[in-house]
Amino acid sequence: MLSTPSTIEIDDIIIRINKLSTVKNIHHIHIWQLNEDEVHLGAEIDFDKDITLSEFDKILVQVEDILYSEFGINHINIQSEFNKKIIKTLYFNINDNRNSPFFKTLLNTGL
Ligand SMILES: [Zn+2]
Repeated sequence: MLSTPSTIEIDDIIIRINKLSTVKNIHHIHIWQLNEDEVHLGAEIDFDKDITLSEFDKILVQVEDILYSEFGINHINIQSEFNKKIIKTLYFNINDNRNSPFFKTLLNTGL
């Protein structure tokens, strides 16, 4: 049966991960225990700047170390985000006026 391990405090994970440099916040956290040995975590990290993939990989190693050594979580799946809400808002607004020059520019840039 899948369940969230009762000994892991999600609030503690949030406080710990949010302290890392360039991390704006970790959210949408799911933790589930597959069996005695395997604890999985899925989450999204919002960054405060547009980091490169190699920078993301470095932070991911830090996050993996912290989650394993301090919380006993041995499988993680993290999705990165930067200004995601702003992009969503942009889509919403441009859909209101598909013939605007701004929308055509976005189409050309493939956003
Ligand atoms: Zn998110």
